[in-house]
Amino acid sequence: MGIAKCQGDFPVLDRLIDGQRITYLDSAATSLKPQAVIDAMSNYYSQNGVNIHRGKYYLSEEASDSFERVRYSVAQYLGAYGNEVVITKGTTESINLVAHGLNLQSDDVVVGFLDSHHAQLLPWRRFADLKLVELDSDGGINLDHYHELLELKPKVVVLTHCSNVTGNIAPIEEMAIAAKKACDAIVIVDAAQSIPHPHLRIDVSKIPVDFLAFSGHKMLGPTGVGCLYGKSERLNELRPLMLGGGMVDWVDVEGSQERKIPHRFEAGTPPIASTLGLGAALSYLSQISAEESRQHTEGLSEAIIQGAMERDYLQLLGPKTVKNRCAIGSLKIKGCEDLSDVARSLSDSYGIMCRTGHMCAQPVVDDQMDGEVLRISAYIYNTTDEIERFYLSLDELVTFLG
Ligand code: PLP
Repeated sequence: MGIAKCQGDFPVLDRLIDGQRITYLDSAATSLKPQAVIDAMSNYYSQNGVNIHRGKYYLSEEASDSFERVRYSVAQYLGAYGNEVVITKGTTESINLVAHGLNLQSDDVVVGFLDSHHAQLLPWRRFADLKLVELDSDGGINLDHYHELLELKPKVVVLTHCSNVTGNIAPIEEMAIAAKKACDAIVIVDAAQSIPHPHLRIDVSKIPVDFLAFSGHKMLGPTGVGCLYGKSERLNELRPLMLGGGMVDWVDVEGSQERKIPHRFEAGTPPIASTLGLGAALSYLSQISAEESRQHTEGLSEAIIQGAMERDYLQLLGPKTVKNRCAIGSLKIKGCEDLSDVARSLSDSYGIMCRTGHMCAQPVVDDQMDGEVLRISAYIYNTTDEIERFYLSLDELVTFLG
């Protein structure tokens, strides 16, 4: 498989809406799913469909084995041990699990980024004193400000690897090392937007990361599943957020004994089919080399930046160079108050699907763009022709709307 030929693996791209093919430019919200992922899930339901870790019969043991194999594939992908990977519902649950479990005091300092997703901002703000690193004039992370905030000796540092609004890729290795050196802070990486890209793969055995969170649905997998990586000593200290079946060794009328990591964080029946889909997504992504992924992403980013810079009526948020950037472009149309009207027309008249709003990162969108944006985000199944088509369609619409 190569990126150039992968469009045929995504059945939804064969769909015609009002006779038009779909141009999907909303992968930062969620990616499309290849047939291999759909097959893995439907195969589980048609050939197995039973619960895991409960029954001592063939089908249950088969399902449990398949489920645990996915955990080990994720661990291998991250350079971790199998017991360091907790299966969750996604990035949001993973972050909440850590924020609730660390026993923070309200005056503990947590450092995050101004362009963090709400899934990062809200849990930390609830439990601690959250300080946000500003952006620099290019839309990247202001490293001077980051170093100033490290002087406050934060207990936790939350690094968003790739922003879902600016597309900026933060130098997380350098930032994690600095956080450890300054105050031995707990380092957490939000990898929701970077894990889909093989060239941005993080090896947790090489950089000082304590926790890392991601969602399956942004990396070709299904919704409803994601992971939390945690260093084993950190996971052992963390208080579980959810209590119930599957996370205890025994329960009597007075007490209970929690299971070892990672199972003590997985109360209740997990998303079995989705986890198997995640495994298939990981296998699919593993066929794409880092270099191919980098080149493709840079090509798409270049098309996004170029298209915006060539048009006076557009303002693009974030870095204007292709290096250290993902193919995400948040745009403001000068003089246009109602971007959702534009998105609706792009969809209805041109079959182009993209997003408007604050992108669940309202502080940075309000700060930098004074309100909502129109966001396009491209992935392995997109081409630069599609980005060009988006801009030409936008030209027509803007002329029409006056
Ligand atoms: N973090 C970032 C950077 C994101 O882009 C997103 C989703 O857009 C999230 C966290 C939350 O992910 P989920 O909704 O899958 O939990």
